[in-house]
Amino acid sequence: MNALSEAERYLLDAVRRGDEQGWPQLVDRYQGRLLAFARSRVRNASDAEDRVQEAFIGLLRGLEKFRGECSLETYLFSILRRRIIDSHRGKTNSMCLLRDTLRGGDDEDAGPEARLPAPDLTASTYARNAEHRGELHRALAEAITDLVSGYKEALNFRELKVIELLFYAQLRNAQVGQAVGVEAGHVATIKTRSLSRIRKYLLNRTPSDSPESPEAPGSSASPVSSDPPEALLTEVWEDHRPSCPKRSTIGGYHLGTLEPAWQDYVDFHLNNLGCRFCLANLDDLKESEDRAHMDRLRQRVLQSTVGFLKKS
Ligand SMILES: [Zn+2]
Repeated sequence: MNALSEAERYLLDAVRRGDEQGWPQLVDRYQGRLLAFARSRVRNASDAEDRVQEAFIGLLRGLEKFRGECSLETYLFSILRRRIIDSHRGKTNSMCLLRDTLRGGDDEDAGPEARLPAPDLTASTYARNAEHRGELHRALAEAITDLVSGYKEALNFRELKVIELLFYAQLRNAQVGQAVGVEAGHVATIKTRSLSRIRKYLLNRTPSDSPESPEAPGSSASPVSSDPPEALLTEVWEDHRPSCPKRSTIGGYHLGTLEPAWQDYVDFHLNNLGCRFCLANLDDLKESEDRAHMDRLRQRVLQSTVGFLKKS
């Protein structure tokens, strides 16, 4: 799976070739959105800049290994997020504002079944070794991307919102139902259906594409004979961002030029779900718009005053 756009491939090729313009162009293209993301996660402005710098260094260090499994933007965001988590000594927030808002205390009275196991614990029981785990992540990312693309093509944004709230924001069925105005029972149906589509995708892919499971066929720990744990889905969602709208779509949303169904969905993704990656993109777009306005005004002022300066 190669998720790179033509522009991203061009930039990466230029950097790999050692083209002098390649690296500055790449930095220019991504620094604004990365800084907007870091600023929303890190209080101190110079710390935020340090983390962005480290993310670019991380990209250069891993350049040979990066094969385009996700977009360059997503890859940079994931390095940056890890650097921020490291600098916070492992303390981590969700990538959805909504999840963090709801988590502010209501976990205490939730039953043990409502609390999701820590991602590492889940991943270790679901995937036995690091290599298998990497492969499983890739396979899951493809499966979720396939599911999400189906919803988007069919303009089925209601189900897309439901699975984002379930698997990206880790909300419980009743909370999801409230957020999108659907009965909790129907949320459960959508959940079962989407999990079974993910499982089916993995099953069809497994024989040739993935290493053999260390478990006997049909065992409960085999990735395809049981549903993937929800914490693992969230982990994959945060790393691969299968449902995040493109930056150009976020730009269209900002200008109000999208079709109504898309406008509504992107509004949900940004303002209800509160996807921090996409909010960073929106902030950066607004900032560059401000800069462009200022540049145009500056040009206008300078052009209209040039005659006065000559006279004096
Ligand atoms: Zn997003």
